[in-house]
Amino acid sequence: MNRSTDFYVDGKRHILVADDEMINRELLENILCDEYDVLMAEDGEMAYDVIKENRNTLSLILLDLMMPKLNGLDLLPRLKEDPDLKGIPVIVLTSDQASEVESLKRGAADFIPKPYPQPDVIKARISRSIELAEDRQIISATERDELTGLYSSEYFYRYGEQFDKYHPDSDMDALCLDVNHFHIVNERFGMAKGDEILKRIADCLTKTFPASDCVICRKTADTFLVYCSHRDDYTSITDKMSEVCGDMPTSVRLRIGVYAYCDKKLDIRSRFDRAKIAADLIRNNYSVFVSMFDEKLMEKELFAEQLVDEFPKALAEKQFKVFFQPKFNITGDKPVLSSAEALVRWFHPTLGMISPGRFIQLFEEDGLIAQLDEYIWRSAAETIADWKNRLGISVPVSVNLSRAEMYDPALVETFDKITSEYGITPEDIYLEITESAYVRDSDQIVDRVKELRDHGFFIEMDDFGSGYSSLNMISELPIDALKLDMMFIRNAFDKINDTRMISIVIDIADYLGVPVIAEGVETEEQYLALKKLGCTIIQGYYFSKPVPADEFERFLTEKGS
Ligand code: C2E
Ligand code: MG
Ligand code: MG
Repeated sequence: MNRSTDFYVDGKRHILVADDEMINRELLENILCDEYDVLMAEDGEMAYDVIKENRNTLSLILLDLMMPKLNGLDLLPRLKEDPDLKGIPVIVLTSDQASEVESLKRGAADFIPKPYPQPDVIKARISRSIELAEDRQIISATERDELTGLYSSEYFYRYGEQFDKYHPDSDMDALCLDVNHFHIVNERFGMAKGDEILKRIADCLTKTFPASDCVICRKTADTFLVYCSHRDDYTSITDKMSEVCGDMPTSVRLRIGVYAYCDKKLDIRSRFDRAKIAADLIRNNYSVFVSMFDEKLMEKELFAEQLVDEFPKALAEKQFKVFFQPKFNITGDKPVLSSAEALVRWFHPTLGMISPGRFIQLFEEDGLIAQLDEYIWRSAAETIADWKNRLGISVPVSVNLSRAEMYDPALVETFDKITSEYGITPEDIYLEITESAYVRDSDQIVDRVKELRDHGFFIEMDDFGSGYSSLNMISELPIDALKLDMMFIRNAFDKINDTRMISIVIDIADYLGVPVIAEGVETEEQYLALKKLGCTIIQGYYFSKPVPADEFERFLTEKGS
C-alpha cells in the first residue's frame, strides 16, 4: 500500500519521539512542538504500535536505541521489512558511536548524538531527512502504476534503456499485450471486476517474466508492455495468460504482439510501436493470439497510414475516379449489355493508380468509407444522368455499399436524395451489398435492405459464397440477384476443374427466383461453361476490364445501335 503523499496533517507534520527517558522526550518535544505535531512512546513495543497506527501520516521517527521491551536496533529491521513502514525515515538517538554505524546499516536515515547538540542542528537534520524521504516517495509514486504495482510507462522505457546498457549483447524482444474486448468486462461485470482482471494479469506477468531479465509495465488501461530476453515460444504464455481471463466471456482474451530480436539502434518507444502494430493485426482474430512483427508489415502499416492521412485532401481534390465494368446477359444467342458496376480507383499524384483492394478495408476500419462511398454514388449518378441526357441510353449501374453504411438510419434518404438531385430513378442505380454484411446483426441489415427495396432499389448480394450465410437465412433474404464470389470461378476452372459448386449456387438462385451474376470471368471456356450451366449474367475481363466513363460509352452505343 502506498503511504499518503499528503504530508501535512492538521497543518503540521507528525513526528514520533521514542525514548524511555521522560526528560529526553520533553526536551525534544520543546524543541519541535512549534513546527511538528509530536507523538510519544516510552518503550520499543509502544513505539511499534504508534508507528503502525500512524503509518500513513508519520513523517519521521526519532528512535532511542536503548529501550525496554524492544530496543531500537531490533525495531529498525522490523520497520524496514514492512512495505507500509519502510518509507518512514528514522533518526536514531544514541551516545554510542559503534551503534551509529550499525543503525545506519539497518536502515536509519541519520543519527543525533547524545548529549543533544544545539536545537537548530537537531531541527536541520530532521527537516533534511523528511525532505529526502518525501522526494523519494514522490518518485516512487510516479514510478509505479497504482492499480497493478507494475512500472509506469515512463519508468519502464528508462529501465529498458538501462537494461540495454548493462546487457548490450542480449537478444531482446519487445512485447505488447492487449486484452481483446476488455470493455466487455467493465460494461458487463463492472469496474471492480475489470480492475481485478487487470491485477490478475499483472500478477501472472510478474510470475512469467522474472525481474532478472524482464521489465514490465502497464501502459494504458488494458495494454501491458514487456521487455525481455528472447524466447522462441509465446503461445504457451498466452495459454497461461488466458487462464487468467478464464471466467470471462470467450471473446475476452489476451493477445500478444512480438517484435523479436529488437534492433537496438531503434529508440525504445519505436520498438514497442512495432510490437503494437503486430498486436493490432490480430485484434479481430478469434483463433490467433500471438502475432510476430516483420518489416513487410511495417511497410504495409506505413503505407496504410499515409493513405488515411491523405484521404481528406484526395477527396477534396477529386483524386478518386469511378470506373465502370460491363455486365452482360448471356441467356440469348448473343451477350447483351445489361448493366455496369461502378468501381473506385484512386489516382494519387505521386503513387499513381491505387486499386480499391488496398484502401477500402482500411477506410472501413478508420470510419472514412461513408464519405468516400457517398462521393462515388454521386459520381456514378452524375454519369448515369449524363448518358441518359446526352446519349439517350440508360443502363443500370450498381454501386458498392460497405457494411457500416447498412447501420446508417439515413441511408435510404441519401439514395432518395441522390436520385432526385441527378434526375434519375431507383431503377437506374443498383446496390451491391456483400454477403458478409448479412452475417452479423442480420435482422437489422435485412430491415434496412427491405426499406431500400420498398423505395424501388434493386439489391445484388455481392461475393455470395464467401460470407457463410446459412442456407436457412438465405431463403428469407430480400434480394434481387446473387453475385457469385470470384473464388467459385477460380476453383472450378483453375484448380479442380469441377463446376458442381457453381451448379448448386445456380439452383439456390433458381429457388429464390433471382438471376446469378458470375464475376471474374476471364476466358471463353469459362463463359461457355457458365452459359451451359444456366448462369444469367457475366462480368469479367473476358468482356472488359473496368474502364473510365468515356471509354464505357462504346458499350452503350453498341447496345443502342
Ligand atoms: P467487388 O465489388 O466484388 O468487385 C469486383 C472486383 O473484381 C473488382 O475489383 C473488379 O475489377 C474485379 N474483376 C472484375 N473482373 C475480373 C476478372 O475477370 N478477373 C479478375 N481477377 N478480377 C476481376 P476492384 O475494382 O479492385 O475492387 C475490389 C473490391 O473493392 C470490390 O469487389 C469491392 O468490394 C470494393 N470496391 C470497389 N469500389 C468500391 C466502392 O466504391 N465502394 C466500396 N465500398 N467498395 C468498393
Ligand atoms: Mg461489387
Ligand atoms: Mg464481388
